[in-house]
Amino acid sequence: MTFSHPADSNLSTRLGQALTPEQGALLRLVTDEASRRQLPLYIVGGFVRDLLLGCPATDFDLVVEGEAIPFAHSLAGNYGGKVTIHSRFGTATWNLDGGTLNRLGIPTVEHTSVLTLDFVSSRSETYKHPAALPTVKHGKLTDDLQRRDFTINTLALRLDGEVFGELRDDLGGLDDLQKGLVRVLHPLSFIDDPTRLFRVVRYADRQGFQITPETLALIPEALPGIDLLSAERVRHELDLILEEEKAASMLKRLAELGILAAVHPALKWKHSTQTRFVKGLAAAQGFERPPSRRMLGWSLWLMDVPHPDLENIEKRLHFEAGLRELLLAASALFAGVNSLAGKKPSRCVAVLDQIPLKAVQAVSLALPASPRRQLLHDYLETWRHVKPRTTGHDLKKRGLTPGPAYKSILRHLCEAWLDGEVMTVDEEMALLEKLTKKV
Ligand code: ATP
Repeated sequence: MTFSHPADSNLSTRLGQALTPEQGALLRLVTDEASRRQLPLYIVGGFVRDLLLGCPATDFDLVVEGEAIPFAHSLAGNYGGKVTIHSRFGTATWNLDGGTLNRLGIPTVEHTSVLTLDFVSSRSETYKHPAALPTVKHGKLTDDLQRRDFTINTLALRLDGEVFGELRDDLGGLDDLQKGLVRVLHPLSFIDDPTRLFRVVRYADRQGFQITPETLALIPEALPGIDLLSAERVRHELDLILEEEKAASMLKRLAELGILAAVHPALKWKHSTQTRFVKGLAAAQGFERPPSRRMLGWSLWLMDVPHPDLENIEKRLHFEAGLRELLLAASALFAGVNSLAGKKPSRCVAVLDQIPLKAVQAVSLALPASPRRQLLHDYLETWRHVKPRTTGHDLKKRGLTPGPAYKSILRHLCEAWLDGEVMTVDEEMALLEKLTKKV
């Protein structure tokens, strides 16, 4: 993305080009209503930042300088759709289903079944104590801009009335965006909300921006505040980073700044982690159904962490059950994969079948080219699909009484195929003959 300076402070043309037809049509309804009610309405934050960088995001935050909830209700009253409210935050979501959109003549792409718009009342925030969730009060737009994390996220576009598309830049965001700088709004910003320590790195590395020296200097004294953040808030920030294209360089930077160690001392980012992570994510493209980027990212990152440390990291971050299982299984397999070397395929399958498939996939992506990786590859691509031609039905036809012998015979046949002891259906039938005689 590259910044392109607006020729004037009105971005209506750029905005018009950036919106999809349905977003544009919906926004027109909203701006008309705001104009009728003489209610100042703005798009604020990431969407404006990315619009100026030439890569508009798909969702936008709409800020009403006034009451958002009655405004959303009046939209629903006039045009239909439903409103969901979150009164504690003074926010409202307007949901329009396909039928309503059709009735309003809003073009929808095939897969759109519902469109939603979020409205927030402009507000000021204060923090009762560091890392607390903020106390929220209605305020002017300027208060709302001042509660934000970085100057580049404080840009706003006016949407109502004659000033449609007018850029509002109260806090020097445009200048910082142009210079490629990430800057907090005040010296206590990281102390108030330590999640910004993660966000500052995410925004800087995403765009190749610099963190200003003054902002960088505030980081060390804010690190202890990370301890005050809940597991969910830290994990959410790390999840967002793992979804980023430049996740590896962001995590490296978090380690260099002492941010990872402040989350948990066992959370490291080594040179070998970097290699495994980057190569593993790239190789996952070749898989038909790879684990999600987030799950794979966590797993590649933590694969060489010894189990006791992994358990401790888990205690800090509270991974959900599926991810926890993946992390533990993948790190155990990564540490123990050598023990499979030289074993017959049937033995390897017996071991690997006990491990979640995603963990085997993750470890195969993590290993450098080697016989160990080939073995996991063979398991994933071929061995785990091997089945004998014979079925339980066939055994029944042969007059065998259903019971544990079925399982044992079928497993025996499968192992014979895997280990190359039978290679044709005739050979399988001959083996089956022998096995059924023994029963
Ligand atoms: P992206 O989705 O690209 O990360 P975004 O800017 O849309 O960018 P969101 O997390 O959706 O990010 O936040 C929306 C806006 O809310 C931000 O642009 C910022 O102005 C504000 N914001 C989000 N988190 C914080 C925070 N921790 N402190 C202050 N302001 C924040």
